[in-house]
Amino acid sequence: MTAQKQSGIALVTGGTRGIGEAICKMFSGEGYQVVTTFRNKERERQAREWQSRMADDGLEIDLVKMDVSDMRSCEIAADELLQRYGRLDVLVNNAGITRDSVMKKMPIEAWQEVIHTNLDGVFNVTRCFLDTFLAQHYGRIINISSINAQKGQFGQVNYSAAKAGIHGFTKALAQETARKGITVNTISPGYVETDMIMAIDEKIREQIKAQIPVGRFGQPEEIARLVAFLANEQSSFITGADFSINGGMFMH
Ligand code: NDP
Repeated sequence: MTAQKQSGIALVTGGTRGIGEAICKMFSGEGYQVVTTFRNKERERQAREWQSRMADDGLEIDLVKMDVSDMRSCEIAADELLQRYGRLDVLVNNAGITRDSVMKKMPIEAWQEVIHTNLDGVFNVTRCFLDTFLAQHYGRIINISSINAQKGQFGQVNYSAAKAGIHGFTKALAQETARKGITVNTISPGYVETDMIMAIDEKIREQIKAQIPVGRFGQPEEIARLVAFLANEQSSFITGADFSINGGMFMH
């Protein structure tokens, strides 16, 4: 059986590694024209090398320069994308960072950087494309939050707050756009094997793994599968929802 081909334009922020990369690959395999981002000039060469590796695998993925924490950068990137393709069907707000520390030692910069990237970033990018979605009477917005927004996490007041903010954003925007052919949903992954998790001290990583009922970390492709499901045109009755995907680590 041949896979059903999707068509349309999909933007995945921060898609040159980790979960974002898996989403890019899955979308591209489904027939979307995928666009992803590199955040500044210094990252461009790396991103272009990644792009040619994808092309070697038969995946033609486009790139735009976009720092999600900077509204002006998002506006320029959005103009570029819309000039190139004329529309956007799917937006995945995936870019995110951690700057962990217990609250009593957390510098204000670590708070601000995480809020600017993980929460303002979702507003900035979505704001830039909302008029397009409204004019098209079609759009799929998928925001990547975290299990640590749902349950809180020691050493992550900044990250937990930013990611929890995404849940409120999603539910509010879903109400504003529900009659306009636009769905807005959140995915809250548990621990997934990417650079973000590999940066955690190995001993702590093993302790975390021991708390996951399925006994392993998630794979980026497993998150991408859920993203692709929500991105599908037929998922039109799902909006304002949050999907846990965490190996049973947090059930609510
Ligand atoms: P990675 O650290 O592997 O990748 C993050 C991506 O976001 C990178 O491509 C990075 O770009 C990009 N990025 C960071 N800041 C910006 C910015 N200001 N503008 C544009 N792009 C930016 O993370 P993961 O793949 O692990 O995580 C992806 C998302 O999933 C994040 O939102 C994360 O919070 C969330 N998540 C991850 C979990 C996990 O266990 N891995 C669990 C729950 C949620 P660059 O390459 O330039 O650094």
